[in-house]
Amino acid sequence: MIVHLKPTIGQQQAEYLAAQTQSIVLLQEGGPVVLITPSALKTLPAVLEPHTEAFFSMDSDIQLASNQYVGERIVKVGNVLLGKDQGNTLMIGGPCSVESWEQISASAQLMVSLGITTLRAGCYKPRTSPYSFQGLGYEGLLMLAKIREEYGLHIITEVKDSSHVHEVIALADIVQIGAKAMYDHSILRACGKSNKPVLLKRGFGSNLQEFVQAAEFILSGGNAQVMLCERGIRTFEQKTRFTLDLCGVAYLREYTNLPIVLDPSHAMGYRYGVSSLARACVAMGVEGLLVETHPNPQVAMSDASQQLNHPQFTEMFHSLKPIAAAVGRTLV
Ligand code: PEP
Ligand code: MN
Repeated sequence: MIVHLKPTIGQQQAEYLAAQTQSIVLLQEGGPVVLITPSALKTLPAVLEPHTEAFFSMDSDIQLASNQYVGERIVKVGNVLLGKDQGNTLMIGGPCSVESWEQISASAQLMVSLGITTLRAGCYKPRTSPYSFQGLGYEGLLMLAKIREEYGLHIITEVKDSSHVHEVIALADIVQIGAKAMYDHSILRACGKSNKPVLLKRGFGSNLQEFVQAAEFILSGGNAQVMLCERGIRTFEQKTRFTLDLCGVAYLREYTNLPIVLDPSHAMGYRYGVSSLARACVAMGVEGLLVETHPNPQVAMSDASQQLNHPQFTEMFHSLKPIAAAVGRTLV
């Protein structure tokens, strides 16, 4: 249950009431002081009655992300508004990893030439093997900071563990929490305390309830700027890397209020399927699309098999525009 307290209630009193009801206090700038009670609670406790302005009872542990509470949450990236009813689909392109200044500048130049405003690239890579390239770390972050300055692009980059979470939050315009980090509570809580937009990727072994519950950690920490990213789940199928769960996307659209971003690159795992999947993703009418592209994918240090080369990315990008228009959206 989500309880809006009366405006006369101060933080100290809210914390007292929270302790009485095993609730979390959510302080929001300019908004009401909110208590989030355990979801099993269906009737307003007597202790809260005199202090309550409004309350919302939920069906499940999906509370702040539920559209029973708020129909649409809006995430702001630069001056672009992303939300169900905002009509924008954010194109996110770039390589899997930052590898060198030459490589990341070539990627930035491609984005600028296509009018794309958001560049992705990882510096802290959550690799499956300790013997694979682990990313350039802080050196890569500094390159991304320089790229933003030189090209005016928004930067999305991922956080792998809590040792560098504050560095990434400080630098990125959008903080990516990768599939393998979806359950890392220290990352989720640190992002909850920041005001940076967060792209939360679905763990490939997580169901939809677990996915949205991870988002609830960020939302209940006080950061409402959360986007959900479907990037493929593990199924019995071995021919493709993962299985992109578009049924899950329809579910998230129906029951949650958060912007949705789709990532066909990691789902497919192979270049040949990425462009057609990207078109299917945009046709779902989502708020964002993430596609990996590399100046020379054959020599990419991570995810070499799935990254599009620049001509392939360019062709795909142009083919997406009419599809976005057909579902009432503009690719930004
Ligand atoms: C990535 O975006 O490069 C990445 C590692 O993604 P995921 O966490 O979805 O595997
Ligand atoms: Mn990748």
